[in-house]
Amino acid sequence: MEKPSFRKTLSMEVKKNMNNESRVGFPAILGIHQPIEVKKDLEERMGVQVFEIPILPPSIPGMRIFNRFKAWLIQRGATFLLGHSVSKTILKGKYCKGIEVLHAPVVNSYSADRYILATGRFIGGGLKADQEKISEPLLAFQYFNLPPGRDGLEKTFFSDQPHPIHHAGALIDPSFRPVDEKGELLLENLWVAGTMLAHHHCTDEKIQRRN
Ligand SMILES: Cc1cc2nc3c(=O)[nH]c(=O)nc-3n(C[C@H](O)[C@H](O)[C@H](O)COP(=O)(O)OP(=O)(O)OC[C@H]3O[C@@H](n4cnc5c(N)ncnc54)[C@H](O)[C@@H]3O)c2cc1C
Repeated sequence: MEKPSFRKTLSMEVKKNMNNESRVGFPAILGIHQPIEVKKDLEERMGVQVFEIPILPPSIPGMRIFNRFKAWLIQRGATFLLGHSVSKTILKGKYCKGIEVLHAPVVNSYSADRYILATGRFIGGGLKADQEKISEPLLAFQYFNLPPGRDGLEKTFFSDQPHPIHHAGALIDPSFRPVDEKGELLLENLWVAGTMLAHHHCTDEKIQRRN
């Protein structure tokens, strides 16, 4: 789609099949790098409005957002590391002083004034669960709102109620810093974001419920 010659052939073929439509939808194939230019060019060639229909993963719109964020961060001087996990946090009192990234056999250390923990839930490794407990592997806080032991686990697999395990996650204060179950601040310079937060149901909230 980023090649004008391909857009020319495609728009001619689509135009042949049009019957006074004012809008044409394509699956999310309008290119990774210049989708707005691709869209405008198709609109001019076909004389209709063009829109994109998001498709199944891997998400092309997601890749575009990722690339934009990455370029924006690097432009502003961020060190962008991809592919190696944070293996350890260095804590001192209520402060996170640094992180370590393991590039076996080398360990690289990084430090900053402030940190954001946004490591997601179970699939990405932000939370770990065994039959007894849920834990956060980097900071190992006991800050999950699930009763300990098996009581927190729903017995019915196909229940019409959200599964309690989905409510588990990081407890936070109003400015998104981690707290313990009594509301006591655990770290002054670390903020938590994304689906690892407690008190929401990340799957259920994305579904339009019938009732
Ligand atoms: C198959 C599938 C399809 C989905 N489809 C949709 C959809 O169509 N619409 C929708 O709204 N949602 C969808 N979701 C849900 C959506 O992907 C999540 O809600 C969203 O990605 C959560 O964002 P997050 O930033 O909290 O966590 P994540 O996107 O999981 O990001 C956390 C990141 O942290 C990284 N990480 C974890 N531990 C470490 C570490 N120690 N060091 C460094 N990095 C670490 C992980 O590798 C991951 O890249 C889908 C999920 C799945 C699995």
